[in-house]
Amino acid sequence: MRNGRVIDPGTGLDRVADVLVRDGTVAAVGTGLAAPEGATVLDVTGLIVGPGFVDLHSHVHSIAGQRLQAMDGVTTALDLEAGLLPVARAYADAAAAGRPLNYGFSASWGAARAQAHLGVEPDARLETQLALLGDPGWQRTSSTEERRTWLGLLERELADGALGIGVLLGYAPRTDPAEFRAVARLAAAAGVPTYTHVRELVEADPSTPVDGSEEIAIAAAETGAAMHHCHVNSTSRRHIDRVLTTLDRARAAGSRVTVEAYPYGAGSTGVGAYFLAPERLGAWGITASNLVLVETGERIADEARLREVRERDPGAECIVEFLDERDATDRALLRRSLAYPDAIVASDAMPVLWGDGVLDSRQWPLPPGGSTHPRTAGTFARSLRTMVRESGTWSWAEAFRRCAYLPARVLDDTAPSARAKGHLGVGADADVVVLDPTRITDTATYLDSVRASVGVVHLLVGGVPVVRDGALRTDAYPGRPLRAEPR
Ligand SMILES: [Zn+2]
Repeated sequence: MRNGRVIDPGTGLDRVADVLVRDGTVAAVGTGLAAPEGATVLDVTGLIVGPGFVDLHSHVHSIAGQRLQAMDGVTTALDLEAGLLPVARAYADAAAAGRPLNYGFSASWGAARAQAHLGVEPDARLETQLALLGDPGWQRTSSTEERRTWLGLLERELADGALGIGVLLGYAPRTDPAEFRAVARLAAAAGVPTYTHVRELVEADPSTPVDGSEEIAIAAAETGAAMHHCHVNSTSRRHIDRVLTTLDRARAAGSRVTVEAYPYGAGSTGVGAYFLAPERLGAWGITASNLVLVETGERIADEARLREVRERDPGAECIVEFLDERDATDRALLRRSLAYPDAIVASDAMPVLWGDGVLDSRQWPLPPGGSTHPRTAGTFARSLRTMVRESGTWSWAEAFRRCAYLPARVLDDTAPSARAKGHLGVGADADVVVLDPTRITDTATYLDSVRASVGVVHLLVGGVPVVRDGALRTDAYPGRPLRAEPR
């Protein structure tokens, strides 16, 4: 790659240079590099060359979804918040189907509980887990015996290479806080992070057993575990500033707390989620009509209709409007969640649905009729557009630090191969994005959610082009697993 503006958040390098990639790794960075015999030479004058984005929060387990993320600059897409169970099967399924991007999974606390409480045999599919989310049998506090069972399951998953423990605590928010501390102790002992969708904040629900963000701060301090706080924008909503202050205090005291955000004012999850029960919506200051079903586009008319759809299809993907993106005050809140020092960009990418259970396609452009949350296709390009180009809040170097470098560092201790990601040092994995700084933008909207971002000119995964000259390569499946190396 000749004559690009090379940004390496690993060294702070930001200048015009050449990058030589050989055998899947970065072989040299410098000016006037000689091209080896037979090398492909890309003139990237005027473009930015940086490490591909590492997405810690992607529920995309499909070729179609990964291709949308590739067009958004992502080279590694990991499902760490929900996780899957058993991870051995999740890794085997992904390898068998082929993946354009690198992939990896945490062990699912929710699926382990469902097995311990209800005897549900996990099948490593997100859809199975979504369908169970609303089941009260899964959500209750465990007996001593049940807790022992699911802790044992999680421990076995960590030995199998899970990248930590994914904890959907906000979906079982009445569980005994002692259970979460037990998870934190297990994570600390195994040397892996937890990735938590926190339980309710005390401002939204004074009857919560413990404030969702304080719980992270306390458990991280007590156990020493590395604790990642997922999507601070969606679980904090209009309390973003207070939650960030809580996390700040924990970090200042030396706790290993990290945080992520995505630049949208609406979330997405299974409509059967605990916090979407009609009687719970008031805590978020929303009503049933702030929910839209992804597959059909139906805006929920009222509470009666909400009860109906939760009963009939609790795993149905829906959009949840929690902040108003047209409102300047709400937009500023979103921007502060991303601007927070060291906040990581993570998409929370959701499955693309075509109806009738169709969840994937090898066709590109995607066959018509697909839908998802626009964050799936647009999180990274939208963050670059709003945080660098439009507001100047981040420099380009800072953007690469938050989209590639910092997320890879969350995994360093758990998966030593992550140390070769998120930077462009010699020997780094050749996971590289080349983007046009004047054009990069999201194009996906809530109504047309599967439109690919524009401005990613080339994307290499392990040195193999997945995007070349702005076009996706449909024969490229270079994605490799990222697994933990258990201590
Ligand atoms: Zn979540």
